[in-house]
Amino acid sequence: MLLIEISQIPPEGLDVDAPLDPGEVHVEGEESFGLESGGRLRCHVERGDDRTVHVRGDLAARLRLQCGRCLESFEFPMAQDLDLFYLPRRGEQEEEEDEVELKDHEMVVAYYRDERLDLGEMIREQFFLSLPMKRLCKDACLGLCPTCGANRNLTPCGCPPVADARLSVLGNLLDGGSS
Ligand SMILES: [Zn+2]
Ligand SMILES: [Zn+2]
Repeated sequence: MLLIEISQIPPEGLDVDAPLDPGEVHVEGEESFGLESGGRLRCHVERGDDRTVHVRGDLAARLRLQCGRCLESFEFPMAQDLDLFYLPRRGEQEEEEDEVELKDHEMVVAYYRDERLDLGEMIREQFFLSLPMKRLCKDACLGLCPTCGANRNLTPCGCPPVADARLSVLGNLLDGGSS
Protein backbone atom coordinates (compact mmCIF):
# COMPACT_ATOMS: atom_id res chain seq x y z
CA MET A 1 0.00 0.00 0.00
CA LEU A 2 2.82 2.42 0.79
CA LEU A 3 5.14 1.19 -1.93
CA ILE A 4 4.10 2.95 -5.11
CA GLU A 5 5.12 1.82 -8.56
CA ILE A 6 5.59 5.06 -10.47
CA SER A 7 4.23 3.52 -13.66
CA GLN A 8 1.02 2.57 -11.84
CA ILE A 9 0.13 6.14 -10.91
CA PRO A 10 -2.85 7.06 -13.11
CA PRO A 11 -2.98 10.43 -14.90
CA GLU A 12 -5.45 11.81 -12.36
CA GLY A 13 -3.20 10.78 -9.51
CA LEU A 14 -3.52 8.30 -6.73
CA ASP A 15 -5.26 8.76 -3.40
CA VAL A 16 -3.64 7.02 -0.47
CA ASP A 17 -5.41 6.57 2.83
CA ALA A 18 -3.55 4.04 4.90
CA PRO A 19 -3.03 3.06 8.51
CA LEU A 20 0.59 3.04 9.61
CA ASP A 21 2.16 -0.31 10.22
CA PRO A 22 5.57 -0.36 11.94
CA GLY A 23 6.93 -2.77 9.33
CA GLU A 24 5.70 -0.76 6.38
CA VAL A 25 7.14 2.49 7.73
CA HIS A 26 10.43 0.78 8.65
CA VAL A 27 10.44 1.50 12.35
CA GLU A 28 10.25 -2.06 13.63
CA GLY A 29 13.02 -2.46 16.16
CA GLU A 30 13.69 1.27 16.17
CA GLU A 31 15.27 2.07 19.52
CA SER A 32 14.75 5.82 19.78
CA PHE A 33 10.96 5.71 19.58
CA GLY A 34 7.98 3.41 19.12
CA LEU A 35 4.92 3.75 16.92
CA GLU A 36 1.52 3.45 18.57
CA SER A 37 -1.39 2.06 16.60
CA GLY A 38 -3.86 4.47 15.03
CA GLY A 39 -1.46 6.46 12.86
CA ARG A 40 -2.61 7.37 9.39
CA LEU A 41 -1.31 8.72 6.10
CA ARG A 42 -3.67 10.51 3.76
CA CYS A 43 -2.19 11.86 0.60
CA HIS A 44 -2.54 12.42 -3.10
CA VAL A 45 0.29 11.20 -5.30
CA GLU A 46 0.61 12.74 -8.74
CA ARG A 47 3.02 12.37 -11.58
CA GLY A 48 4.31 15.59 -13.07
CA ASP A 49 6.54 16.53 -15.95
CA ASP A 50 10.08 15.23 -16.11
CA ARG A 51 9.18 12.16 -14.06
CA THR A 52 8.68 14.20 -10.93
CA VAL A 53 6.21 12.91 -8.38
CA HIS A 54 4.29 15.24 -6.13
CA VAL A 55 2.99 14.04 -2.76
CA ARG A 56 0.53 16.21 -0.85
CA GLY A 57 -1.44 15.34 2.23
CA ASP A 58 -1.07 14.85 5.90
CA LEU A 59 0.42 12.41 8.30
CA ALA A 60 -0.65 11.85 11.89
CA ALA A 61 0.72 9.41 14.40
CA ARG A 62 1.41 8.88 18.05
CA LEU A 63 4.99 8.04 18.88
CA ARG A 64 6.16 6.54 22.13
CA LEU A 65 9.21 8.21 23.62
CA GLN A 66 11.15 7.87 26.81
CA CYS A 67 11.31 10.82 29.18
CA GLY A 68 14.86 12.07 29.59
CA ARG A 69 14.25 12.90 33.25
CA CYS A 70 12.12 10.16 34.80
CA LEU A 71 12.77 7.50 32.14
CA GLU A 72 9.05 6.66 31.89
CA SER A 73 7.64 6.24 28.41
CA PHE A 74 5.12 8.78 27.18
CA GLU A 75 3.03 9.41 24.12
CA PHE A 76 4.08 12.07 21.65
CA PRO A 77 1.44 13.00 19.06
CA MET A 78 2.78 14.26 15.75
CA ALA A 79 0.93 15.67 12.77
CA GLN A 80 2.54 16.94 9.62
CA ASP A 81 1.28 18.46 6.41
CA LEU A 82 3.09 17.00 3.45
CA ASP A 83 4.11 18.75 0.27
CA LEU A 84 7.01 16.90 -1.27
CA PHE A 85 8.53 16.60 -4.70
CA TYR A 86 10.30 13.45 -5.73
CA LEU A 87 12.78 13.05 -8.53
CA PRO A 88 14.17 9.86 -9.95
CA ARG A 89 17.62 9.08 -8.63
CA ARG A 90 19.90 7.98 -11.41
CA GLY A 91 22.44 5.28 -10.65
CA GLU A 92 24.63 5.87 -7.63
CA GLN A 93 24.50 9.61 -7.94
CA GLU A 94 24.58 11.45 -4.63
CA GLU A 95 21.92 14.00 -3.82
CA GLU A 96 24.52 16.74 -3.43
CA GLU A 97 25.75 16.24 -6.97
CA ASP A 98 22.35 16.31 -8.53
CA GLU A 99 21.98 19.35 -10.72
CA VAL A 100 18.28 19.13 -11.33
CA GLU A 101 16.65 22.48 -10.86
CA LEU A 102 13.02 22.93 -10.13
CA LYS A 103 12.32 26.42 -11.34
CA ASP A 104 8.84 26.95 -10.03
CA HIS A 105 9.19 25.73 -6.52
CA GLU A 106 11.69 25.97 -3.77
CA MET A 107 10.40 22.92 -2.04
CA VAL A 108 11.47 19.85 -0.30
CA VAL A 109 12.88 17.55 -2.91
CA ALA A 110 13.55 13.90 -2.32
CA TYR A 111 14.39 10.97 -4.55
CA TYR A 112 12.85 7.73 -5.57
CA ARG A 113 14.75 4.73 -6.81
CA ASP A 114 14.09 1.87 -9.20
CA GLU A 115 10.82 3.39 -10.42
CA ARG A 116 9.28 3.00 -6.99
CA LEU A 117 8.35 5.47 -4.33
CA ASP A 118 8.35 4.14 -0.79
CA LEU A 119 5.99 6.33 1.21
CA GLY A 120 6.96 4.28 4.27
CA GLU A 121 10.49 5.61 4.00
CA MET A 122 9.12 9.15 3.73
CA ILE A 123 7.01 8.59 6.85
CA ARG A 124 9.99 7.30 8.78
CA GLU A 125 11.89 10.47 7.90
CA GLN A 126 8.96 12.63 8.99
CA PHE A 127 8.97 10.86 12.35
CA PHE A 128 12.63 11.67 12.90
CA LEU A 129 12.09 15.29 11.86
CA SER A 130 9.23 15.67 14.31
CA LEU A 131 11.04 14.31 17.37
CA PRO A 132 11.39 16.96 20.06
CA MET A 133 14.84 18.12 21.16
CA LYS A 134 13.85 17.68 24.78
CA ARG A 135 12.04 14.48 25.48
CA LEU A 136 10.01 15.17 28.58
CA CYS A 137 6.81 13.46 29.71
CA LYS A 138 5.76 16.93 30.86
CA ASP A 139 7.59 20.22 31.24
CA ALA A 140 7.33 19.99 34.99
CA CYS A 141 8.60 16.42 35.20
CA LEU A 142 10.33 16.04 38.56
CA GLY A 143 12.62 13.29 37.36
CA LEU A 144 14.34 10.65 39.41
CA CYS A 145 15.63 11.30 42.89
CA PRO A 146 19.43 11.41 42.61
CA THR A 147 19.71 9.84 46.05
CA CYS A 148 17.32 6.88 46.00
CA GLY A 149 16.32 6.70 42.34
CA ALA A 150 12.57 7.00 43.00
CA ASN A 151 10.38 8.59 40.36
CA ARG A 152 9.52 11.87 42.07
CA ASN A 153 6.40 12.33 39.92
CA LEU A 154 4.90 9.30 41.65
CA THR A 155 6.27 9.35 45.17
CA PRO A 156 7.87 12.10 47.19
CA CYS A 157 10.63 9.93 48.60
CA GLY A 158 11.57 12.32 51.38
CA CYS A 159 15.27 12.42 50.60
CA PRO A 160 16.84 15.78 51.46
CA PRO A 161 17.34 17.95 48.36
CA VAL A 162 20.76 17.65 46.83
CA ALA A 163 22.32 21.08 46.48
CA ASP A 164 25.13 20.03 44.23
CA ALA A 165 25.79 22.18 41.17
CA ARG A 166 27.43 19.30 39.36
CA LEU A 167 24.28 17.24 39.59
CA SER A 168 22.12 19.98 38.12
CA VAL A 169 24.56 20.29 35.22
CA LEU A 170 24.25 16.56 34.71
CA GLY A 171 20.48 16.91 34.89
CA ASN A 172 20.53 19.50 32.12
CA LEU A 173 22.65 17.26 29.95
CA LEU A 174 20.26 14.38 30.43
CA ASP A 175 17.31 16.59 29.58
CA GLY A 176 18.88 17.29 26.23
CA GLY A 177 18.46 13.68 25.28
CA SER A 178 21.24 11.70 23.74
CA SER A 179 19.62 10.33 20.63
ZN1 LIG B 1 9.30 12.45 33.04
ZN1 LIG C 1 14.93 9.86 47.14
